[in-house]
Amino acid sequence: MNIHEYQAKQIFAKYGVPTPKGIMAESVEQAVTNAKELGGPIWVVKAQIHAGGRGLGGGVKLAKSIDEVRTLSEEILGMTLVTHQTGPEGKLVQKLYIEDGADIKDELYLGVVLDRAREMPVIMASTEGGMAIEDVAHDTPEKIIKVAVDPAIGFQGFHGRELVFGLGITDKVEQGKFIKLAAALYKLYLENDAEMIEINPLIKTGEGDFIALDGKMGFDDSALGRHPDIEAMRDISEEDADEREASEYGLSYVSLDGEIGCMVNGAGLAMGTMDTINYMGGTPANFLDVGGSANAQTVAKGFEIILKNPNVKAIFVNIFGGIVRCDRIANGILEATKLVDVHVPVIVRLDGTNAPEAAEILKKANIANVIAATDLADGAAKAVAAAKQAK
Ligand code: GDP
Ligand code: MN
Repeated sequence: MNIHEYQAKQIFAKYGVPTPKGIMAESVEQAVTNAKELGGPIWVVKAQIHAGGRGLGGGVKLAKSIDEVRTLSEEILGMTLVTHQTGPEGKLVQKLYIEDGADIKDELYLGVVLDRAREMPVIMASTEGGMAIEDVAHDTPEKIIKVAVDPAIGFQGFHGRELVFGLGITDKVEQGKFIKLAAALYKLYLENDAEMIEINPLIKTGEGDFIALDGKMGFDDSALGRHPDIEAMRDISEEDADEREASEYGLSYVSLDGEIGCMVNGAGLAMGTMDTINYMGGTPANFLDVGGSANAQTVAKGFEIILKNPNVKAIFVNIFGGIVRCDRIANGILEATKLVDVHVPVIVRLDGTNAPEAAEILKKANIANVIAATDLADGAAKAVAAAKQAK
């Protein structure tokens, strides 16, 4: 799960990482009130979306007067911001952050991520802050200093020295401040089960202070149960609506751009089904794993979500009954035809636990759109043929 910049900065403040003073706003009037409260004389108006690269897209602007805060807020709030991280469709800006303008002498980069190959969190730092770190990594990888910290020993003095020497920070006081900051960031990372933390830019002021001008944080979804304070920061309006709805019903769903809707149990079978559809000359419209606890309601919900996609020309239900019983899935299909308008052919392959009962249920119901398949290959071929016919 990701959080907004202003929320990341609230967490930074708790760990003693300095940030500029700022106040979140959801309207232009609020933005103006916030700016007056902060006092100026320079403010930054920042779009709050779960994506970086906002500056280049026009989502971060400097204001030199209250009037300018108003005009810039009007411009940014409600805009569809396109950055290299949003995809071409962009993201609607629904929140702003109004901040004290900072005095920038140097822009650095500081982050913590999990290095899966080393099996350790790695602190990354660079003198090339302010720009996309992906570009720095690509063009001048030697300008990124990476220090792996073994959680068994924790952040030690030598890690800090490696960072400041690598960055060329020579002033003793500045070295101390930077090391303290890196240690705090590492602590934050571990204590909150973060997946990544990024400060870009981390600025150095004329007085030699380090301030986090930007903040990005992502957390391990599986660990959110231990962090209710972070879970409370979830902004569902930033997440894919269909994927969110699916997860509320215990379905794991990923939308894709093909034309055959898939409803499968188990991630492995789901992948195999998608591959087989491709092999037969079709393209899957989604990945949907109904899981082991599927019942009539969740199956009906799955149909509803799949059918929201106008590209879907056929649905392939491929269930291998084990924990999930085929008769439940069959009832789910019946339920779905009552609850939602199933206007495309549904190819059904149910095998395993209670498969004969399921076949009986579907046969009795005699639904026009439902086509029975004998196995995976037969089902995929029938789904591809049905989708082709629909065009
Ligand atoms: P991002 O583009 O999404 O990473 O958003 P940032 O928060 O990093 O802002 C983009 C850029 O705006 C930064 O790299 C800075 O150069 C600039 N910026 C942000 N805040 C300030 C500020 O307080 N003063 C000045 N002068 N520039 C700022
Ligand atoms: Mn940034």
